[in-house]
Amino acid sequence: MIPFVREMSFAYGRCDRVSPMIRRVVARNPGPFTYTGTGAHIVGRGEVAVVDPGPDDPAQIEAVLAATAGERITHVFVTHSHLDHSPAARPLAEATGAVIYAGGARCRPSGGDDRLEAGDDLAFRPDVALEDGQLFRGPGWTIEAVATPGHTSNHYAFALHEENALFPGDCVMGWSTSVVSPPDGDMGLYMRSLERIRARRYGALFPAHGPPIRRVDPFLEAYIAHRRHRERQVLEALEAAGPASVRQIVERLYADHDRRLLPAACHSVLAHLLDLFRRGLVDASGAPDMSALWRPSFMRHAA
Ligand SMILES: [Zn+2]
Repeated sequence: MIPFVREMSFAYGRCDRVSPMIRRVVARNPGPFTYTGTGAHIVGRGEVAVVDPGPDDPAQIEAVLAATAGERITHVFVTHSHLDHSPAARPLAEATGAVIYAGGARCRPSGGDDRLEAGDDLAFRPDVALEDGQLFRGPGWTIEAVATPGHTSNHYAFALHEENALFPGDCVMGWSTSVVSPPDGDMGLYMRSLERIRARRYGALFPAHGPPIRRVDPFLEAYIAHRRHRERQVLEALEAAGPASVRQIVERLYADHDRRLLPAACHSVLAHLLDLFRRGLVDASGAPDMSALWRPSFMRHAA
C-alpha cells in the first residue's frame, strides 16, 4: 500500500512557509487531477524563483505577486505544459522581468483522453528550453533541472540543493498516483524517472498538488512497487486468458472497481502494454494501440 499523505493546511491565495527556504501559494483550481489546486512554490528571499506558477487565473498571479512584494522574481520554472501548471508563467514574467525555463514546448496535443488530464497548454513557450543537469543560482539557493519524462514527454523536476529537496511536479504526488496516458505519456520513461528520483535520496518532495512528502524513501518504494505490481497483473492476465484487448484486461483486473474509473484504467493498462511491448514481453495484433489484441510474446514462452 502506498502511504499517501493528504492532510494539508492552506487557504487559497495565502502564502505559507513550508520549509526554511520555500513558500507556497495554492491556486483555486481544485479538481480530480489537481486535488486542492496547484501549489506555486517560491524559493529564496529577495531574489526568488517560482516553480509552477499555476493556471490562467488573475487571482493566483496577484497572490504570487503579493507574496513576493518588495522582492524580485528572477526565474520561473515550469515542470510541464499542462493547463494547471504553465499558463500563469507568461503574465508573471511580464509583470516581473523573470525568465521562464521549461523542458520545451509541446506543439501537438498529447492525443490523450481529456477526461484523464488537466489538458495541454499548447500556447506555452518557455524563454529557455532546459537541459538535464542545468544549474541556476540566486542568493542562497541553487536549483538543478532534473529531466523526469513520463507523465508528459517534456516533464522536468527541480532540485533545491541547499535543502536536498525536490519539486517533482506531477511525477510524484502524495495524494495520488500520477496519470501516464499514451501517446505523450510513457510508462517506461516514467518508471525510469521514479527510479532516478529515488536514487538521489532527497530529504523532502514538494509536489505541485497536495502536501509535501517528508518520508521520501518508504513513499517512493511503495509508489514504484505499486506500478510493478500492476505490470505483473497485466502480464498474468494475458497469460491466463490468452489474446485480449485493453478493455478485456481492464474488465478482468478492475472487476470490482467503480465503473467510472474504467476509462482511466484503460489508458494506464495501455501504457503498461506499450512498455512491455518495447521490452519484447508482449506482442500486439497490428498496430500496438487501444484496438489491438495483445498476447504474451513467443520469446517469453520459449525462454
Ligand atoms: Zn498538475
